[in-house]
Amino acid sequence: MKALRQWSLRHARGLAAFYRGVAAHAPAAAPLVRAVGLARAEAWLRPFERAAKSAFFDCRMCGQCALSLTGLACPMGCAKQMRNGPCGGVRPDGGCEVRPTQHCTWLDATEGDATMRAGHTPSWTQRVAPLDHRRLGRSSWMNAIVGEPAPAPRNPPAGSAATRSGRAAPDAPVDRLPSGPFEQACAESNFVITVEIAPPDSPDPAPLLQRAGRFAGLVDAINITDGAGANCHMSSVAAASVLAAAGLTPVCQVGCRDRNRIAVQGDVLGAAALGVRNVLCLTGDDVSQGDHPEAKPVFDLDSVNLLNILRGMRDRGEYASGRRLERAPRLFLGATANPFVPPYAERIANLERKIDAGAQFIQTQFCFDVPLLEAFMREVRSRGLHRRAAFIVGIGTLGSAKALRWMADHVPGVHVPVALTARIGAAADQRREGIRVCVETLHALRRIEGVAGVHLMGHRNEDALAQVILESGLRSTAARQLA
Ligand code: SF4
Repeated sequence: MKALRQWSLRHARGLAAFYRGVAAHAPAAAPLVRAVGLARAEAWLRPFERAAKSAFFDCRMCGQCALSLTGLACPMGCAKQMRNGPCGGVRPDGGCEVRPTQHCTWLDATEGDATMRAGHTPSWTQRVAPLDHRRLGRSSWMNAIVGEPAPAPRNPPAGSAATRSGRAAPDAPVDRLPSGPFEQACAESNFVITVEIAPPDSPDPAPLLQRAGRFAGLVDAINITDGAGANCHMSSVAAASVLAAAGLTPVCQVGCRDRNRIAVQGDVLGAAALGVRNVLCLTGDDVSQGDHPEAKPVFDLDSVNLLNILRGMRDRGEYASGRRLERAPRLFLGATANPFVPPYAERIANLERKIDAGAQFIQTQFCFDVPLLEAFMREVRSRGLHRRAAFIVGIGTLGSAKALRWMADHVPGVHVPVALTARIGAAADQRREGIRVCVETLHALRRIEGVAGVHLMGHRNEDALAQVILESGLRSTAARQLA
């Protein structure tokens, strides 16, 4: 079976052409199918379709075939049900974040797509719609015969293409005011600084406010994680609302792991009602990484489709279902990127999909390798993406070489060069050296065209992060008040 799948990836171009030819002639069988009866004809067809597509493409019969858009690799094989490109957790050897012994489905998709591109329009530019769960197990071939349309992605209104300022293009039918100071800071091309804080394991907001207060005058926004690492904490919506009520500027992370499209839209609307307008859309770590590995992962959406839905709420004033909202929320939408893990080249295509779907700012994974980031930003600039979204690069400091090694070994998606671990390990004061490296990285990033700011991360390491900002010389506590 595996050999057959590898063969189909190598011959994706020819197979895709064959598939298109068959699909073009499939409607000729429609009169016969109607004479037999749709249900009976589908019952006959389904086992053949399942056997053939399973052997060649590892097909899971989602009933809304996207193989022509995914390099002939079935996206249903992805443990997180990603439909628009890889997650940020692909392992250095190409293994899946969730199932390390399995090759990442999206690396297979990339290989198949590269073969198909030789003579066809690049397929990665087209967004794949979220699954319609009613169609699971149904025949896609039957759709091709009787012309039942597959679920099509709903796109934002013409002319409302995202820009870095977040304002719609002049001909856009929406009046999009800046959502608040963070969007303003990104639009003004200041070098923005944000920091990440994990919500508390307590209903008491006081410690959260105390930790956030450590950054008074130092940052443009405080990013609240949403069950980071699949560990349970106070909800990001609630924690972000606590900060907003205190006059701070939160960025609320919203992941796809724990909520379906109904819950997630309701949460974002609720957050907006409580003054939270900056939303970072991400797919999220798998439940196997966290403290509730027995929980059911949801992944009803991927981050690209989540972005597109939230953009539709804001720009069209409607839910994913098409039902009208009484009033559209003002939102500043962000997405994540990981330039530091494979597939490196296709990360850009994935990023472009996110920006097309509505991302106005991009936050990257930890950058411990500036040359890799430089290569990524060269590609970003060559496509003009830095003019459509603000690129905020993740940096951080860990207390020791041991902590860095642990992160490299246990956190999928984090790349730590061996030389860096060695440098910190050789220092007499490893914590101090870690801060020095972080400040050096910050200044190196400032020199890269297209980098709009940095995002500081470090679990419960607020003092060190504040020290990095102060030592960078970019802010002083007296310079400005926390927005
Ligand atoms: S690494 Fe991520 S994108 Fe690739 S198969 Fe696993 S969950 Fe899916």
